Amino acid sequence: MRMSEGVTAAGAEYLEWIYRISKEKQSVNPLDLARALKVSAPSVTAMLKRLSTAELIEYQTYQGISLTPKGQAIAARIVRRHGLIERLLTDVLGVPWEKADELACQLEHYLTDEVEERLAAFLGNPTTCPHGQPIDLERPDRSLLLSDMAPGDEAEVSRITDEDTGFLSYLSELGMRPGARVRLQARAPFNGPLTVTVGESTHAIGREAADKVRVAAPEEEITP
Ligand SMILES: [Zn+2]
Repeated sequence: MRMSEGVTAAGAEYLEWIYRISKEKQSVNPLDLARALKVSAPSVTAMLKRLSTAELIEYQTYQGISLTPKGQAIAARIVRRHGLIERLLTDVLGVPWEKADELACQLEHYLTDEVEERLAAFLGNPTTCPHGQPIDLERPDRSLLLSDMAPGDEAEVSRITDEDTGFLSYLSELGMRPGARVRLQARAPFNGPLTVTVGESTHAIGREAADKVRVAAPEEEITP
């Protein structure tokens, strides 16, 4: 397996996910990684031990997992490459939106620095992947959850935080992609579904799905 800075592709994938999850929640634990990477708890434990020995992460059972500066530098590069490759796949090669993430996960570990820079320039230095996820996770994100909108509010879909193929296919059917206009019509009590108008059509959307879609009010959009 190709190595980058002494990390295997599998190790780099862990660093990427520790980084991504750390931007969404307070502390990252092994269970978060097992879920995100669809691997068993013992594999997570073994990999965390290796990454810790390589001084790429710090892990204490009750404090969660954090990246060392070296680990974070690798993770940030992988996140950027992931986004750029997704853009190449969807915008240039015509790969369906819902399949880009899975393919990018495989390809992202094999780019050289030079190809990464040329790709970024060729694509016009995009700031997000085709699902609206930032290519630079250090940029402030002022988006809010679709499920946190108030009834009557209108906004634009800015970001899909779960790039599972099935989930993206579902959103595609609803027309819910970055840039789509949405209006929250109603919210059922007791964590029930949201009634959301996307473009011209209205749908009932479960809370679980609505928690994975982020929106930006039009005036908050950042024009590159
Ligand atoms: Zn993406």
